[in-house]
Amino acid sequence: MKLVLATSNKGKVREIKALCEDYEVIPYSELMEEFEIIEDGNSFKENALIKARAVFKALNDDDVIVIADDSGISVDVLDGKPGIYSARHAGKDANDKDNLYKLIKDIKDKNVSSSPAHYTAAIAIVTKNGEYCVHGWMHGTAINEAIGDSGFGYDPMFIPLGFNKTLGELDDEVKKKLSHRSKALNLAKSILKTL
Ligand code: IMP
Repeated sequence: MKLVLATSNKGKVREIKALCEDYEVIPYSELMEEFEIIEDGNSFKENALIKARAVFKALNDDDVIVIADDSGISVDVLDGKPGIYSARHAGKDANDKDNLYKLIKDIKDKNVSSSPAHYTAAIAIVTKNGEYCVHGWMHGTAINEAIGDSGFGYDPMFIPLGFNKTLGELDDEVKKKLSHRSKALNLAKSILKTL
């Protein structure tokens, strides 16, 4: 089954491909020119559906199944921020490093060295026969420094529950087993089997 991903984020594409080995996974940018999708929803679910619907409509092919991931990190000491704004935390054109160091600064500004935090992933599936959305979460601690360079995004400052190293230091296989994205994708795969 061919799955078109409504993202070109390299970190997400790499992880989703590794987690969906039984499927042919193609980022939509390989099928058409990338276009801007305004993510103006109020939740991970709304934004994931906005992305999947936009790509499904643009591809104009009833045979494709489009999946979109909307995800982010929520830090307790920051009242759940940046949440759905994780990709733009340091500004509209911020890259992953800008966002990482902005979040580290925010935690330092609260005069703490760490805070409970969690990642959320919403995975939307859009097909000609209907729409679906599932979620996964990973809980842990956000710290006020970046350690290691595995993973992507905020991983160098996130220690998953039950570990004493950041996702930047831990092997990719660890994240593959317990991440928000892998939990959501496992649910998504049970839906895909029914299509
Ligand atoms: P989206 O493309 O709007 O879903 O943005 C997701 C944002 O959350 C990006 O800034 C990512 O770097 C960050 N993010 C999502 N999932 C992860 C993850 O698994 N590790 C690290 N950062 C993540």
